Amino acid sequence: MFTPAAIEKLAPLSFGTLDGDLLLSNDAGHWARLSSADTADLFAGTITPGHPRFAALAARGFLREGLDTDALAARIRHRTAPLFQGTNLHILVVTLRCDHACRYCHASRLPLDAAGADMSIDTARQSVDLAFQTRSPNVNIEFQGGEPLANAEVVRFVIEYARECNRFHKKELRFSLVTNLTRMQEAYFEWLVAPDVAVCTSLDGPADLHDANRRLLGGGSAFAAVSGWLRRFREVYAERALDPGLFHVEALMTTTRASLRRAQEIVDTYLALGLPALHLRPLNRYGFAAAAWARIGYTGEEYLRFYFEALNAVIVANAAGGDLREQTAAVYLTKLLTPDDPGHMDLRSPCGAGIGQLAYDIDGKVYTCDEGRMLARTGDATFNVGHVETNRWSDVVSHPTVRAMAAASLLETLPGCRDCVYRPFCGVCPVQSWATDGDLFGHAGRSTRCVIQRGQLEGLLRLLHDDAAGTTERLFKRWTVNRPRVPPPACAT
Ligand code: SF4
Ligand code: SF4
Repeated sequence: MFTPAAIEKLAPLSFGTLDGDLLLSNDAGHWARLSSADTADLFAGTITPGHPRFAALAARGFLREGLDTDALAARIRHRTAPLFQGTNLHILVVTLRCDHACRYCHASRLPLDAAGADMSIDTARQSVDLAFQTRSPNVNIEFQGGEPLANAEVVRFVIEYARECNRFHKKELRFSLVTNLTRMQEAYFEWLVAPDVAVCTSLDGPADLHDANRRLLGGGSAFAAVSGWLRRFREVYAERALDPGLFHVEALMTTTRASLRRAQEIVDTYLALGLPALHLRPLNRYGFAAAAWARIGYTGEEYLRFYFEALNAVIVANAAGGDLREQTAAVYLTKLLTPDDPGHMDLRSPCGAGIGQLAYDIDGKVYTCDEGRMLARTGDATFNVGHVETNRWSDVVSHPTVRAMAAASLLETLPGCRDCVYRPFCGVCPVQSWATDGDLFGHAGRSTRCVIQRGQLEGLLRLLHDDAAGTTERLFKRWTVNRPRVPPPACAT
């Protein structure tokens, strides 16, 4: 343990252990891993000028001697900048109708012929008008459902109307369409292939797994539809010689119990379809997934085993000449290996609820995030913070619920998280805590989410540590630079 003299030599930091080594981190997002010999020197206060670890630890702000507080403050300002930009992600739920019956659907879908399940043009216009009141210089409008292309008329209207509004507002405007692609049509390429429009779909793996998870109502194969359109998108981009760094279609993979033994096949499916990224994600215990948990759920530890099996398959594929990025790892690695923080809504402190994102439901009700909206669809309107017709921007973003969410996701104050060595790279979700524990603050340090996130960070640090030749680190660094546009975390349909 530290001697009093050694403690006096340390700058503010958090510490933990990993495989017998000591891990250090600080608010600037620096981290270091010390062997037991170096740990003994740190405990004894003998890491001073001339010690082989002194320069690196001092440069990262772990030691008082030579501490450059201006550099640390600049790095903290840079990494926390997304928190102060204002709300930039605006999720428009343009319909609740959908032609899939996914085993884990969170969205409380309705059948394709359901009445009163679409956002009207008027509500869409009011939603865009409210979204443009953000002080953020960036406005990203994400279309969610149900299946948004079941109400393609409103999707197209919003794209055209928002572009028109932006002639006055002059923001950095982008759109993300989150679609299962079964209602895609050739004619839609005319307005979907544009530099400001990103397309994100779901692909759970090989045909039998995808079709079991994502059943197409009325028969037929959802996999055949999605893989066919994924190929067609790539053909269209290639025919028009569009930059694959800007024009690409991304997919998200949701893990059910049936996926756990099929990591390699899932990676192979993504490689065969030429997708640039695989975004692995665990199930959230909301909506239909909560009711089906006994059949499709798993523990955090089981998910971690699957996750690293898949990540290792991605690493091996890249070593063999493939080009595939795992998106969750890319977010953590950007935090771990660069001065940047991507500002991912669910992996920051505080989280993006209200202050980074808002969700606009078909009826004009506004929620802190899409997860909050989904809970409302199951009867719990806790996360409703206004209505596009009756509320001003200031009413919505300063709503008491938005404030409570910020307090409940501020890792620096949360028991369990505030002293955790992974805090600079992590995030908690008050909606998830509310849904599972009935409490916004939940049990952050002990939740399944914590098990998974801590395990992912530990696993990535192990891969970096065991990488004598430096090949994994070179690959990981490639994932953190010049990354194509990243769909937000809510990207799933
Ligand atoms: S959620 Fe878990 S891993 Fe993340 S900061 Fe909190 S205690 Fe640490
Ligand atoms: S409450 Fe959860 S889902 Fe909503 S923004 Fe925060 S972390 Fe994301």
